[in-house]
Parts: sequence; C-alpha cells; structure tokens
Amino acid sequence: MKTPIYMDHHATTPVDPAVLAEMMPCFEEAFGNAASRNHSFGWAAEELVEKARERIARLIHCSPKEIVFTSGATESDNLAIRGVAEAYRSDGNHVVTLVTEHPAVLDTARSLEKVGLEVTYLPVDPTGRVELARLGKAITDKTILITIMAANNEIGTIQPIAEIGKLAHERGVIFHTDAAQAAGKIPLDCQAMEIDLMSLSAHKMYGPKGVGALYVRRRGPRVRLSPLIHGGGHERGFRSGTLNVPAIVGFGKACEIALEGMETESKRIRSLRDRLHQGITSRLADVTLNGQPTEGLAGNLNLSFAYVEGESLLMGMRDVAVSSGSACTSATLEPSHVLLALGIGDDLAHASIRFGLGRFTTEEEVDYVIERVVKEVNRLREMSPLYGESKRHPRGATPRR
Ligand SMILES: *Cc1c(COP(=O)(O)O)cnc(C)c1O
Repeated sequence: MKTPIYMDHHATTPVDPAVLAEMMPCFEEAFGNAASRNHSFGWAAEELVEKARERIARLIHCSPKEIVFTSGATESDNLAIRGVAEAYRSDGNHVVTLVTEHPAVLDTARSLEKVGLEVTYLPVDPTGRVELARLGKAITDKTILITIMAANNEIGTIQPIAEIGKLAHERGVIFHTDAAQAAGKIPLDCQAMEIDLMSLSAHKMYGPKGVGALYVRRRGPRVRLSPLIHGGGHERGFRSGTLNVPAIVGFGKACEIALEGMETESKRIRSLRDRLHQGITSRLADVTLNGQPTEGLAGNLNLSFAYVEGESLLMGMRDVAVSSGSACTSATLEPSHVLLALGIGDDLAHASIRFGLGRFTTEEEVDYVIERVVKEVNRLREMSPLYGESKRHPRGATPRR
C-alpha cells in the first residue's frame, strides 16, 4: 500500500487508465478541429466527438443531440441558470433552489438577484433532503426554474429527482439538476425523471478535468437558453468555441465505464464505506453522521468528531487526503453552509471530516485510515479541555467552578 491515501473523490477523481488510453491518439494522429468540414482531419475528430456524445447520452438516457459540451459543471450550472433566466424573462423572474447547493449554483443565483431575479432558497430536512410540500408551495406564477442538485458533494444526500421533475412539469416549470456528483454513481434517466437540464463534469467520474456537459431537453418541453459564450455557433449555438476533442473523448469513455460497472462498483464502495464507518464508530464515542444514514452516495462518509477541530485532524493525518467541514471554501474557515443547513451547529460543523471513497480505494487503505483517525482523534481529545470537562461531568451535569 502506498501513502498518501487518496480519500477525497468528491473533490476530483484520478483519470482511469482506460480513459487516458482513448485520449492519447487525439493528441497525436487525430488532432483535427471537429468543426473543420473540408478534410479528413476534421471529419475524424467530429466522428470521435459524436461517439463520445452517444456514450454520455446513454448514461443519462437522452438523445446525443441534447448534449452540449462545456468546460465543466460550473459552466453548465451558469449556462443553465443564467440561460433560462434570460430566455424566459418575459414569462417570469422567479427561481427555486436549495440552501445546500454547490457554489456554482448559489453564486450564479445570487449574481442574478442583482439584476431583478427573485430566488427562493429552500431549507432541507436534517438529512439534507428537500421537502416536496415546501417545494410545491414555493412555486408561483412567476416561477421559471427549479434548480436542485441530484446528489450533494459534501454529505452525499440524494434528492428525490423523479418527484421533483414530476412536480416541476405539472406546474409548467423547467427543472435543472446539478448531477456532477450523481452521474456515473446512481442511475439517472432524463426521460423517466422528467429532467430538462442536467450539469455533468468529467473529472468527478474518472475523466479529465476541464470538460463537462449540459443536457438540454429538445422535446416536451423544448428548452430555450441564452448562451453565455458567443462566437462560431458550435454546439447548436449554445456554447461557441473549438471543442476540446481529447477531453471529450475521455469523458465519453468515462461514461461508458461508469455505466457498465455502476451496480457492482456501488456495492463494493458502499461496503468499504460501511467498514470505515463501523471501524471508526466502534472505537470512538461522540461521532455523528452528517447526511442520509444509508441511502446516500455509496462513497460518501461525512462524520463529526465532537471536541475535535476538523482542520486539526487534517493536519495530524498528512498521509490521508480527506476534506474538512469547510470543504468547498477551504480558503475561508467558515463552517460549511451545507452542514449548517442540517441544523448541527457551528461546533459540530467545524468538527467534521468528509471521506470520499472511490474506484481505486482498497480494504487495506480503509483499515489504515481507521487506525489513523482513531489515533489522531484520541490524541486531540486528550489535549482538549472541553473533552476533559465533559468526561468528568457527563450528561449535562453542571461543572462546579
Ligand atoms: C465539482 C462540482 C461542481 C463543479 O464542477 P467543475 O467541473 O469542477 O466545474 C459543481 N457541482 C457539484 C455538485 C460538484 O460536485
């Protein structure tokens, strides 16, 4: 076993060797511009792009014509939200989303509030799920878009996507979902789940960084979008710019691999995740789970270790790559907006660690991480005055001063 151990697969994933193998020829022989219509270099590149488009469409059950390539899920989220807000301005100015969304959604929504968009940020239940009754009540005559993620990047909570899609369509509202974490891990079906727009990112599913897609429904309803990037009219005018052929080819292969192995992989990863959870909680008290107890993303384990700062725990385990409760805004030491939305309070939010298991995680690595976590948490707790206090005066007994 090699260290450091990578257990941060929500942040990014390594490129699968089979993905890299398919990408390589695109840097060498097949380097053409997919928009060159006059020679075989262009045709070859276009053929590769179309094959990738089909593989991606198969993963999420849509038509290849409904896939628009972008630079990643951040751009896809921006295109979906800004694109709908502009194209449907005459129909309304209201968008509904969740407080636990990724910053790519939240910051886009906030920026549009400055130019007249009204945004409802719905709360979540203690496991991080949207409450459908609340969602129904939030929709008004002015609502043009619901944007709710398929699975959360911090706590792994999976939203009831099919129910949201049904509700949106009953009320004549467009439904966008950020599926950067869900795609390739849980079954997604744009038809059955009535999804109109879906953001995808290759580097969250063992593809390369810097490429993603937005699925844009063409029928029932045909979704209109104002582009963010203007130019040569690539991607049906939704996103101009020369296509990143090698990355797109890798993305396509990554989707094919994910689809083939989804069931067996998710079982394997879930059992490793449960082993990690069990291994830690059987040896440490005062550890709580953030997110859904059993139903969430297989590779996600978000735990709060009472009396311990997540940041200190990270520092103490340099040979284990995980994230703390300030995951997506690591530059700041603000507790995660997602954890706070669960109602767990600042202390436990600061005490959280996100473990992200993936395709190449082994049982040996899990056992090593258990040892490291138990040892480090015990060490930090022994140094913590609060912890000592709580052990001398358990269960709310008032310490004498
Ligand atoms: C990683 C992630 C993004 C951003 O994707 P990029 O491709 O890195 O821009 C957006 N949303 C979610 C839920 C993510 O996990």
